[in-house]
Amino acid sequence: MATLLLGAPLASTIENDVRARAALAAERGFKPYLVAVSASDDPANEVYLKRQAKAADRLGFRYEIRNIGGTAAESDVLAAIARLNADPEVTGIIVQMPLPPGVVVANVQRAIAPMKDVEGVHPLNLGELLDGDAVLRPCTAAAILEVAKASGVQLAGRHAVVIGRSRIVGRPAALMFLAESCTVTVCHSRTPDIGALTRTADIVVCAVGKVGLLQPEMVKAGALVLDVGINEVERDGKRGIVGDADPRVAEVAGQFTPTPGGVGPVTVAILWRNAIAALERQIRDRR
Ligand code: NAP
Repeated sequence: MATLLLGAPLASTIENDVRARAALAAERGFKPYLVAVSASDDPANEVYLKRQAKAADRLGFRYEIRNIGGTAAESDVLAAIARLNADPEVTGIIVQMPLPPGVVVANVQRAIAPMKDVEGVHPLNLGELLDGDAVLRPCTAAAILEVAKASGVQLAGRHAVVIGRSRIVGRPAALMFLAESCTVTVCHSRTPDIGALTRTADIVVCAVGKVGLLQPEMVKAGALVLDVGINEVERDGKRGIVGDADPRVAEVAGQFTPTPGGVGPVTVAILWRNAIAALERQIRDRR
């Protein structure tokens, strides 16, 4: 049976580091000031953002929500971002997903000032991943790497198979494994026989969003399996969250991230780490 890789201890270590760095910045008179732009009338969204606000408070960050409403057009979202880009007080911008229909997410991500892009989604920050030294890394992909490193598995020389090639999860994760000298294979919806590839993998990352996509017979005994997928399911009349991997994968894998409780908490912690890194860089640049 696989060892479960829980995200909470790692997230807590990252948050402690962030808190210490925020305290150091505060001694010098600086405080991260994050603004979350939201365009939604969904109460669930509000709940999520309020939770984020509480976490920011715990870490000593200034945090604000700017909800421009669920009927906002792309031009409204871009105007809100332009105002935050121009505000010298604001050190970080978060754009809450989903955005209203008709808003092109890539246009919004491209509009964020790269130095304030704490989610690491601007093309310039993504491009820095090619050099292997990006400071503001996309949170989920960076979290996948943190969990992989914390597993104790030596990454260099290992075969990592990443299922999913999205712009801010699968692709950047693949680049980060490459930077760790893994041999990397990326699978996607057009890959004919994913199992043939994952069976040769020392590390499997599943970042798709499909329940049961990864089955036990697709996994090599002892492999490290990082399940990133988040799928809402209803069981016995209750709503819950499951990953992409069938739970029986844990019977074959050496180490396995549960859902919820695996990569998710680390993703959140990376956002805060990016926020403090963005502030530190802005302080350096102001000198
Ligand atoms: P996305 O943009 O929808 O991308 C999904 C990827 O999966 C695409 O590359 C797609 O391939 C691929 N795919 C779809 N069906 C497939 C199939 N049958 N076989 C193989 N590949 C298939 O999603 P995302 O934003 O990358 O997120 C992926 C998952 O991670 C979602 O469940 C999301 O909720 C979750 N997530 C988790 C966290 C966390 O912190 N744990 C954070 C963010 C996202 P094509 O490119 O060919 O279409």
